[in-house]
Amino acid sequence: MIPLLSNPKPEGLVPEEGAEIESNWEEVVDTFDGMNLRDDLLRGIYAYGFEMPSAIQQRAIMPVVKGHDVIAQAQSGTGKTATFSISILQKLDMSINQCQALILAPTRELAMQIQKVVSALGDFMNVECHLCIGGTDVRSDMQKLQSGSHVVVGTPGRVLDMISRRAFKTDKIKMFVMDEADEMLSRGFKDQIYNVFQLLPPSIQVVLLSATMPSDVLEVTKKFMREPIRILVKRDELTLEGIRQFYIAVEKEEWKLETLCDLYETVAVTQAVIFCNTRRKVNWITEQLTARDFTVSAMHSDMEQSQREVIMQEFRSGSSRILITTDLLARGIDVQQVSLVINYDLPSNKENYLHRIGRGGRFGRKGVAINFVSADDVPALREIEQFYNTQIDEMPMNVADLI
Ligand code: ADP
Repeated sequence: MIPLLSNPKPEGLVPEEGAEIESNWEEVVDTFDGMNLRDDLLRGIYAYGFEMPSAIQQRAIMPVVKGHDVIAQAQSGTGKTATFSISILQKLDMSINQCQALILAPTRELAMQIQKVVSALGDFMNVECHLCIGGTDVRSDMQKLQSGSHVVVGTPGRVLDMISRRAFKTDKIKMFVMDEADEMLSRGFKDQIYNVFQLLPPSIQVVLLSATMPSDVLEVTKKFMREPIRILVKRDELTLEGIRQFYIAVEKEEWKLETLCDLYETVAVTQAVIFCNTRRKVNWITEQLTARDFTVSAMHSDMEQSQREVIMQEFRSGSSRILITTDLLARGIDVQQVSLVINYDLPSNKENYLHRIGRGGRFGRKGVAINFVSADDVPALREIEQFYNTQIDEMPMNVADLI
């Protein structure tokens, strides 16, 4: 545990009501064969390498397929993407060459990743899944949408734009899925989401997923969901079992850079994501490390879309191994080889702590999270520990053995 300061209890530790809500759906189907899925989808699932459904897949696919509104919450890296992808694919009518399911995600990178999963799982169904994101050519987006796709996955701004231009017809959409739903409903996206929602058929089925679901967001969902099935895990069961969490006391902010340089050799044995809180800092750390001949890549939302894609591609392929970024990549991004996450800065919101460290230790793999903690950061770290009812120890000397 981080040493207790004289500072009393930090604020915001009152347990959230939402954290206590449990599932109201009992059925668990523990094989894909047992889910009554169409054959061409089942082939796609097995060809993708899945053998058994994960816990969330065992519980959430069936209620979605049966047409319920669903709120599914499960920890990072446990297969939420395939949960909604399989459900959508099962419900498509392949004789209709029009969009029947819309998936929204908060970042372009996540939307791209989802599109690949839907396309891969639906490969034997010949599914058309269109990616509709900002930073791409508007005209070709319009043309592609007009030519018809069974599924559209995108970011809110571009999707809204395409609907407003009438390039994207929504009348056959029967499912609306929001990944990272709490992020989508709580910040800058909220208005765009409501606007999209207004333009969808009134009978639409709504499915929300996230690792975190603060109670105020749960409250908001009551406005547009009909008797939702809730598959929620309690917050203190959410901290990622396979992920060891440590801190390094750096005392002063200025010492974080040296600490990172000292750690470089350790970090370089694996793939790692380093999070900090501003784009400027991402640039600054990258410059500093590069000047010292360390090889790192960087990504944030101020970069050109084409550059973002190259960097993501290099990181996914493993040709770049250390990625410095902001909360842009805190959510959803799945690179299985990432086993180390460093919080150069602690996140400014508690939910994102869980999302960030969840970039490592995907699907039960082991992972390590290291938090750089200056004296000023100590209360925030303690707050995180208490919020997730977890213990963050000082980093041991043999940390490399754990990665
Ligand atoms: P989440 O959305 O919950 O963070 P993802 O859907 O990104 O998690 O899945 C995390 C990783 O686990 C991905 O690499 C995915 O391919 C893999 N995965 C998901 N479901 C299964 C499964 N049933 N069997 C094996 N691997 C799976």
